[in-house]
Amino acid sequence: MRVRRRKGAEEHLANNPQIVVLRPQDAKGNWHKIFGNVNPIHIEVGSGKGAFIAGMAAAHPDINYIGIDIQVSVLSHALDKVLESRADNIRLLRVDGSSLTNYFDEEEIDLLYLNFSDPWPKKKHEKRRLTYKNFLDSYKQILPPHGEIHFKTDNRGLFEYSLASFSQYGMTLQKVWLDLHASNFEGNIMTEYEEKFSQKGQTIYRVEARF
Ligand code: SAH
Repeated sequence: MRVRRRKGAEEHLANNPQIVVLRPQDAKGNWHKIFGNVNPIHIEVGSGKGAFIAGMAAAHPDINYIGIDIQVSVLSHALDKVLESRADNIRLLRVDGSSLTNYFDEEEIDLLYLNFSDPWPKKKHEKRRLTYKNFLDSYKQILPPHGEIHFKTDNRGLFEYSLASFSQYGMTLQKVWLDLHASNFEGNIMTEYEEKFSQKGQTIYRVEARF
């Protein structure tokens, strides 16, 4: 997601430690304490401006959500959305999705979402795709046995790559949608990119894959 560099974004994050977890390495193993309950924890890696987690958190008050993004400016927009929603079941984390095992204990996360991840279409950038096997290794460690990844995208190349990557990893493709918006899937919460691309007539793909 490309956003203009936002002045004061760092300070904005630092001034809201009740939402933005500022020392993520200390959070490992302590997430239920941070949320103050024992509800399941779902994360979105590459959460962008936060429309999805904010919408999910409002629809599912008994689930805790963590939005993870590597970009400060993007995360500061997500913070605005969370503050506006006044939800207490969302936290934000500014870390790289490739190092999640530094911030989450084994099985600490119940479900992992990827939405409209950067496609990195060139073969030489395969390792940067969030569905590359090295990422799957770390997701597997923080999810329960048979944990799930729910992924949606408009990018057919990344979708096909990801189906193959999940399957080659030995994961089960539980459900696949080749046109999510034309299906009877209920409770879909749109992401920013989903709004944008579906308005342009792009098909949205979705998969639920299980370790
Ligand atoms: N999920 C949102 C944003 C998609 S854009 C939506 O659907 O609208 C992809 C996002 O992933 C960007 O905000 C980018 O900063 C983030 N991202 C890319 N690589 C990442 C990584 N390795 N770790 C964490 N976030 C990453």
